[in-house]
Formats: sequence, C-alpha cells, structure tokens
Amino acid sequence: MKGSGWDDTSAAVQLWAVSKTYGNGATGLRDVTLEVFAGEFVFVTGHSGSGKSTLLKLLYGAERPTAGRVMVGGHAVPDLDVVGLARLRRHLGLVFQDGKLIPQRTVAENAALALKTRGYGRREIERRLAAALKLVGLQTKAHCFPAQLSGGEQQRAGIARAVVHTPQLLLADEPTGNLDPDNAWQVVQIFKKLHALGTTVVVSTHDETLVRAAKHRVIRLQGGAIAGAAAPLSVSAL
Ligand code: ADP
Ligand code: MG
Repeated sequence: MKGSGWDDTSAAVQLWAVSKTYGNGATGLRDVTLEVFAGEFVFVTGHSGSGKSTLLKLLYGAERPTAGRVMVGGHAVPDLDVVGLARLRRHLGLVFQDGKLIPQRTVAENAALALKTRGYGRREIERRLAAALKLVGLQTKAHCFPAQLSGGEQQRAGIARAVVHTPQLLLADEPTGNLDPDNAWQVVQIFKKLHALGTTVVVSTHDETLVRAAKHRVIRLQGGAIAGAAAPLSVSAL
C-alpha cells in the first residue's frame, strides 16, 4: 500500500484524549482514548446522543476535534487538507442509516459510480460490481431503481456501493436503525463476511440485542465519554 495514503503498519484508528464540543456548547465527545486494530470488528454503542455519530464523523473527517488527536490509517485526520482527506476516504467505506442511494440510478449504477469517481476502468468495474452485488445478495436486483427495493434491500445496495472499492476500513453509522431484526441481522452477516475478507469494521448502533448476538468487541459511550471511564469531577461532587 506504499504511497497510497494508508499505513498498514499502524492501528486502523487511534484516538488520544479526544473531545468535541459543538459551536452551541453541546458535548459530542469527552476525553476519549481508544484504538481499533487493523482487522478488528468493533461495535460502538450507547443511547441516542451519547456521541456515536460524532466519533464516526471525526474518523471520516466530517467534524474536527476540539482537543486531542485522531489518527486513521496512520494519518492525523484533522491535519489533512481537502486533497489529503479525499485520498484517505478512498480507503474508507461509509454506510449510513438510510442507503443514501441516488434515486434516478439503478443499484448497479449507484455502485459503479463509486468506482468511476475513483478512476477504475470498465472491465474492473464489471468484475467488482458482480462481486459486491453477490456479497450483499442483490445479483437479481442490479437493474432495479432504489424505489423498487425494500428497505433492507436498499440498505444492502448502499453497502455494496460502500465496499465495491475494497476499503481498508468500513465505518457504518446506525446501519440497521431503520431495519427490522431479520434485515438488521442480514446486514451484520454481510459485515462479518467483509471482516473475514480482511476489512476493519466499525459499526455504531444503539441496538444492544444485535451487539450481544454478534459477539465482537464493544466500545460503549455515555454522555460522550467511554462508559466506565473515570468521570471528570463536577462541582456537585466536591
Ligand atoms: P449519537 O449518534 O450517539 O446519537 P451524536 O454524536 O449525534 O450522538 O450527538 C452527541 C451530542 O452532540 C448530542 O448531545 C447532540 O445533540 C450533539 N450534537 C451532535 N451533532 C451536533 C451538531 N452538529 N451541533 C450541535 N450539537 C450536536
Ligand atoms: Mg447517531
């Protein structure tokens, strides 16, 4: 991976004493230190408002920390300029609560777009598309438009698009938030397959049942901090 902007020799993700306070004073994260090793599968859990999305946004550079250090693939994310961030994101796959598909494009076109923007040629695009659609079980729906798919299928199409370029790190923010338990479990199974193929996976969810069933390491957030970590002394505690 030399020269490609991803350092395989360091941890996939490292946070040191990271805090994020939003402009309105809201606490997104509070003094979070953690590491995700290359090849790991980690869940980030916590109630709504606990900081899960903030953590992921710091990793893909959509937000900047107020304090601390955020490293992804060996790069200090907040220090990257636009070009550096674009280069880093080539190594990431992003999945959100809704599939974020382009409605006027078919499943195959949505995924192919992710490859065209990365400069892949037609034959390689076809090869990768077939593999990605097989992974998510949508071979027969390649030429359907998003509106013709069920919610679970839309989410799987979004995952196909997110992984078609074989990212080193998959970041999924509440990917099962809109799905019933069966579809949610299917999505987790797809992530497990990707993980088995060597992708580092970080998935946020507030669904504790899913987390328990999946049996992977869990990072639990509470009020923006790692749950169980020593809380800062408050005035009322003195
Ligand atoms: P989660 O994803 O676990 O629900 P978030 O990371 O979205 O949590 O939010 C953590 C805290 O940060 C919440 O109190 C939320 O209101 C606040 N927050 C998130 N995004 C913003 C923003 N853009 N501006 C102000 N506050 C925000
Ligand atoms: Mg969230």
